[in-house]
Amino acid sequence: MASLTAAGAAAWISRFADAVDAQRDHLTDLDSAIGDADHGGNMSRGVRAAADKLAADPPTHLDDLFKAVGMTLVSTVGGASGPLYGTFFLRLASALGHEEEADPAALATGLRAGLEGVAARGKAERGDKTMLDAMGPAVEAFEAAAGSDLATAAAGSADAAASGRDATEPLVARKGRASYLGERSAGHVDPGAASTALLFRALAEAVAQ
Ligand code: ADP
Ligand code: MG
Repeated sequence: MASLTAAGAAAWISRFADAVDAQRDHLTDLDSAIGDADHGGNMSRGVRAAADKLAADPPTHLDDLFKAVGMTLVSTVGGASGPLYGTFFLRLASALGHEEEADPAALATGLRAGLEGVAARGKAERGDKTMLDAMGPAVEAFEAAAGSDLATAAAGSADAAASGRDATEPLVARKGRASYLGERSAGHVDPGAASTALLFRALAEAVAQ
């Protein structure tokens, strides 16, 4: 796949929903260690609703598609992560514009806009032990490889997101519910970073064929 099409984007969200369902209990376990044990349930409900919406009424343009995803996540995920993931997709939609497909350079710009939206909305920085610690490296890796083909850029971003997720383990949380634990938040992977790693792995899988 040279460019991300609307069908490719729908496949991305569908694979993300499958991955979140498969990892639902794991995400909840991570959130029970340093939060309130709802991240798996929140994400599974919301991402499945978004995938179902796209399947029932498939948008032909990327802005309409990602806007539908963002709005659905905002209204169904709840918690801190719902508005943050919602913002990611709404910013991605605006940056891509009313197009039927996005080449790697356009998608890199869109992912960067999504990342910056999440950072602004959550007022978090890298190293605060949040989803940004997976999303930031993923977007940087995608940008660095945007001159090559889409599958290569997406695979690199998925690997970077997974490394970013793993690197949250020793960190002390400075944002979100986990920050209430202070030093006791260290020694656990951040649940939002774990779901973000699934997001980028799902993109890599969706564009690999
Ligand atoms: P809640 O914390 O409201 O229960 P979730 O459990 O669904 O919401 O999501 C928790 C995740 O949200 C955290 O693991 C973290 O990655 C992310 N998060 C929380 N606050 C912020 C923030 N201010 N900026 C970025 N990400 C955040
Ligand atoms: Mg929670």
